[in-house]
Amino acid sequence: MHVKLFHFAGSRWRTDEIVDALARAAGLLSACGVAVTGAQVNEVEAPRRFHFYFTPLSRELLRTIAAPGPAVFFVEDTRNDPAFDAEAIGRSNSANRPELADTIWVAYGTRDLPYAIAHELVHVLSDSGEHSEEPGNLMHDETSPQNSRLSHAQCERLVSAGVAHGLLEPIAK
Ligand SMILES: [Zn+2]
Repeated sequence: MHVKLFHFAGSRWRTDEIVDALARAAGLLSACGVAVTGAQVNEVEAPRRFHFYFTPLSRELLRTIAAPGPAVFFVEDTRNDPAFDAEAIGRSNSANRPELADTIWVAYGTRDLPYAIAHELVHVLSDSGEHSEEPGNLMHDETSPQNSRLSHAQCERLVSAGVAHGLLEPIAK
C-alpha cells in the first residue's frame, strides 16, 4: 500500500511526527498482512482557509491535488459539524463529495495519533464505517492505545475491499 501524506506550509504539523505516526500505524495494520510499501510526504502551499477540514473547501482543494488514495491530510482543525478529530471518507459514503473518496483528515492535537491513523485507514481500506465493541479492538469508536487489535473478519474485509478498490496491491506468494 502506498500512502500519501499531506500537510500545509505554515501549519503546526511537523514532518517527523507525521512520518513516525504513520510508521507506528503501519505496525498495527501489519497484523492483517498489510504493508506500507511507500509513503510520500507532501507539503502543500495553500491559503490558510484550506488548512482546515471543511467539506466544500476540502473538495475544492482536492480538485487541484492529484491524490489517488489512501491519502491522509494533516489539518489544523475541522470546521465540519459534527467535529471529529479524525475522519475517513470511503467509497460508499462519498457519493455527494466524490473528490474526498479514500481520504483521511486528522486535526492537530488528535490523541493517540498512530492508533487514530490506523483506525481511519481501516475505515478507508474496508470501505466501512463499522465500529467494534470487542475488548481491545482497534475499531472501537474511541481510539486508545488499549485498543489495537483487528479480528480475522475485519482483516478479510479490509484486504478484499482494499484490493477491489485498487488501494492495496496483492503480493504473489
Ligand atoms: Zn471510526
